[in-house]
Amino acid sequence: MIDLKRTIKLPAENDHAKENEDGSVEVRLLNKNQTITLKRIPSIKCQYCGAETLPVLVGVLELKGKACTIGAYCTECEHTNQISTKDYTDPDTEWTVKKADGRPRCFFKDPIIKISEKFCSIYNEALYAEYLKLRDICGVGYRKALEFLIKDYCIYLHPERKQAIIRDDLGKCIAENIDNPTIKEVASRAAWLGNDESHYEKRWTNKNFRDLDHIITLLCDAIEQDEKIKSLLAEMPDQKKK
Ligand SMILES: [Zn+2]
Repeated sequence: MIDLKRTIKLPAENDHAKENEDGSVEVRLLNKNQTITLKRIPSIKCQYCGAETLPVLVGVLELKGKACTIGAYCTECEHTNQISTKDYTDPDTEWTVKKADGRPRCFFKDPIIKISEKFCSIYNEALYAEYLKLRDICGVGYRKALEFLIKDYCIYLHPERKQAIIRDDLGKCIAENIDNPTIKEVASRAAWLGNDESHYEKRWTNKNFRDLDHIITLLCDAIEQDEKIKSLLAEMPDQKKK
């Protein structure tokens, strides 16, 4: 379930912020395959518990020009604060702190963001709908997010088949474009449950959008694993086969 206190859902370990040797921090934008460098992260007075702490960065929420708002949670009480500046490139810039808007967000990792930014943003809309207790809407939202994830993943694997992938239904896309048996099986379960969320008749009567969300998370994990293994094998090719 969504942890309402923290308002941030991390499906895996947090790897979207990295500290450089000079103390600046590289942060990847939420739902965008783009990184910015913050000269420094200010210490803040937490708007919930009043503690003066160095916040733990959880991601950039918005960015217009050089202005940005970042979500950061307090290490004392674990509530999320929003810290904002008009110019993140200026080391002497002023930061303002306020309570976060309470909207839950899921931070995805690199292979998933690279494969489908659209999936990440639709998923977060569905998550917000769930938070607002819009149960039927969020199910359809997770279903739509899933469709973008699977189709964009298939296009990522087979860019030359893009037009067919866009046109075909999900089941056909999965059967014809995904070779990894684990990913194929998980994706097909997700597609079955997804149909239940968007159609009049429900086939898997003991499952609901929470199960769909769970399978989407498993699918993201499986794709991440597969991509990691592929890069390892590319880095360390079998010498005997040379
Ligand atoms: Zn606090």
